[in-house]
Amino acid sequence: MSISSVIKDLKGRLDGKVAIITGAGSGIGFESAILFAREGANVIAADINLQSAEAVVERIKEKFPLNVLRRTVAYKVDVSKEDEVKKLVEFTLKEFGKLNIMFNNAGIMHPHDDNCINTDEKVWDLTMNINLKGVWYGCKWAIDAMRKNKDNKGGSIINTASFVGLMGAATPQIAYTASKGAVIALSRELAVTHARENIRVNSLCPGPLRTPLLMDFLNTDEKKNRRLVHVPIGRFGEPVEQAQAALFLASDESSYITGTELKVDGGLTAAYVTPE
Ligand code: NAD
Repeated sequence: MSISSVIKDLKGRLDGKVAIITGAGSGIGFESAILFAREGANVIAADINLQSAEAVVERIKEKFPLNVLRRTVAYKVDVSKEDEVKKLVEFTLKEFGKLNIMFNNAGIMHPHDDNCINTDEKVWDLTMNINLKGVWYGCKWAIDAMRKNKDNKGGSIINTASFVGLMGAATPQIAYTASKGAVIALSRELAVTHARENIRVNSLCPGPLRTPLLMDFLNTDEKKNRRLVHVPIGRFGEPVEQAQAALFLASDESSYITGTELKVDGGLTAAYVTPE
């Protein structure tokens, strides 16, 4: 076996690519930053909480000390502010020269998000500003940047939606659900609009996960079991299981996949009656 074929085998699935991940300080974003870095990407770990973004950078340095050719940097951004998202993309182009992957993943689930009657307009607006407008801004400035990529034109955009964008629940969080349904529709339309520019856009639809976002909300066994009975696999998902799917959508292995909703939900959206 030649040395060049050994080196080729060692190449990661995102070798040399530049990826922005929003909400990288926790949960899905945190695990994705680690996986993307492991697979050879330069990662801009962006979060409104700079300390948590810095923590992921430290973790990557500890885990992959030999990865000297690639860089991971922490960046503070509030995705609901367009000028901040624009600056994040400009920073990426200045520091790394291109943008190949945009993972619009930051999102919130407000504790006072409730049914149609009880949800305050402030809660609705905050949820929409982060979960939906934040994704729009991320797509807008990423597409602008990806059009300028010189080496391989185009790129991959992944937008985190949710299973609640695809099915109804009698435990409503109306603003969150509406925001995630809109993310799916927006992603699909962008996929079609930009397909000939080799810019792929897909949404990721996680099922319920064992992350602080959901576990803080489902803080009793009763609340947890009310949901778990509907999940064929019988457990909450792990953030890393979403990161694996995001990695696939980010990589060239998914080169013919655009405009899809990738459901990573333990069979939830496929089920009528679940196993006992
Ligand atoms: P998480 O709370 O663990 O992480 C979210 C991260 O986003 C945090 O680090 C937070 O600081 C950051 N963030 C929040 N507002 C921000 C803003 N305005 N700008 C930049 N960063 C901001 O949550 P998670 O479970 O990893 O969720 C990630 C995505 O997955 C979200 O879009 C969420 O809606 C979606 N999702 C989660 C679940 C679940 O069960 N946890 C299910 C379906 C979809």
